[in-house]
Amino acid sequence: MQDINRHNVQKLVSLIAEAKKITVVSHMKPDGDAVGCCIGMYHYLAASGKTGTKIVLPHRVPSYLNFLIDKDMACDLCIHEDKPKLALEVISSSDLIICLDFNAFHRTDSLEDALRSSAAEKVLIDHHLNPDRTSFTLAFSETEVSSASEFLFQILMRTPIINEDAGNLPQKTALALMTGMTTDTNNFNNSVFPSTLRMASALIEAGVDRDFILSNLYNQYSEKRMRLMGHTLQDLMTITKDGVAYIIFDKKLLQEYHIEEGDTEGFVNLPLSIGRVKMSLLLKEDGDRIRVSIRSKKGVSANRCAQLHFNGGGHENAAGGRLYIPKDVAGIEEAAAYIETYTHLFMTTENEK
Ligand code: 5GP
Ligand code: MN
Repeated sequence: MQDINRHNVQKLVSLIAEAKKITVVSHMKPDGDAVGCCIGMYHYLAASGKTGTKIVLPHRVPSYLNFLIDKDMACDLCIHEDKPKLALEVISSSDLIICLDFNAFHRTDSLEDALRSSAAEKVLIDHHLNPDRTSFTLAFSETEVSSASEFLFQILMRTPIINEDAGNLPQKTALALMTGMTTDTNNFNNSVFPSTLRMASALIEAGVDRDFILSNLYNQYSEKRMRLMGHTLQDLMTITKDGVAYIIFDKKLLQEYHIEEGDTEGFVNLPLSIGRVKMSLLLKEDGDRIRVSIRSKKGVSANRCAQLHFNGGGHENAAGGRLYIPKDVAGIEEAAAYIETYTHLFMTTENEK
C-alpha cells in the first residue's frame, strides 16, 4: 500500500477541496467494481459538500446494478453510448477527473481522447498491473487488493472526514463499495486478502446489508441465463489437451437467449471447477470485435495470455481482451481455431517465461 501515505491522501483531499467541477470515470463495459467505486466516490464527494459531481461511463450500467442508482444520482450519470456529445463536454469542462478501476486511458474506449486532451488535474485509483502513472497528477495503484472498490475504501478511510471509522462513510458509499468488492472477488471466491475481509467486517459492522446486495446480484437473473448456462456446459464448452477450456458465443446465440450485458457474468469461472482445467476463456461476438474474458488457476498467467494473444491485459488470474475482425480473425467461425493454436503455444512455451 505504498501509494496510500499521508502526503498522497492529503493531496487528494486538497485536490477535491479546490475543484469546482469533478468528474468520476471508469472503464468500458463497466462491471460491478467499476460502477461500485464510481458511485461510492460520488456519494463521498456529495457528503464532503461537493455537489455537481458527474459520473461519466463509456457504456451503460448493467441492469443488475440498478439497485445502486437512486433518482438524484441518475441525473448526474452520463453515458457516452447514449449521449456522446454531453459525455465529452462534461469531461472537457471539468477541473478534476477521478479515474477508477482502470490503468490507462485506452481502457475507457470512447472517452480516451477527451481524457488525454483535458487540462484537468487527474487522479488514478486502480488495482490493475502496469498503471500509466505519467498521465496523472496523483496515482494510487495497488495490485494486492481485491478490487478498486476495496482500494478506494482504504483511501477514504484515511481521509479526515472518515477518520478510520467505516461508520462515517455515507451509507450509499458503503453499499456501493461492498458491492464492487463482492463482484470482483466473485463473492469471496478469489482475490481475497486479509484487508478484504477487514473491509467486509467493518462495512457489515457499519450497517451494510449484505443479504440485500447478494439478493440483487445473484438472485435476480433471467430464466434464459440459466438455460444458456445449461446449454453452454452441455454443448458449447471445449477443453483442449493443454487444459484450456473455451466457450464461444456468437451473435445469433446471444440474440436467441436475449442475453444482455452482465447476463454472462460468472460463466467464465465455471470450467475452472474441473480439475484438469488450468485456464478458461469466454468469447462473445460484439460488432467488429470478439470480447474475450480469461480466468486462470495459480501458475498460469491470464494477464500474459491476454497481452500476448488477445490485445488486452488485466490481473494475473483474471484478464480480458479482444480479437478484431478481420485483423485477428476473419470472423467468429475462426475463433475456435485461433484459440486452439495460440493457447497451445502459450501453455507449452510462453506461460513460464
Ligand atoms: P472481464 O473478463 O471481467 O471483462 O475482465 C477481467 C479483468 O481484466 C477486469 O479486471 C478487467 O478490468 C480487466 N481487463 C479486461 N480487458 C482488459 C484490457 O484490455 N486491458 C487491461 N489492462 N485489463 C483488462
Ligand atoms: Mn476491478
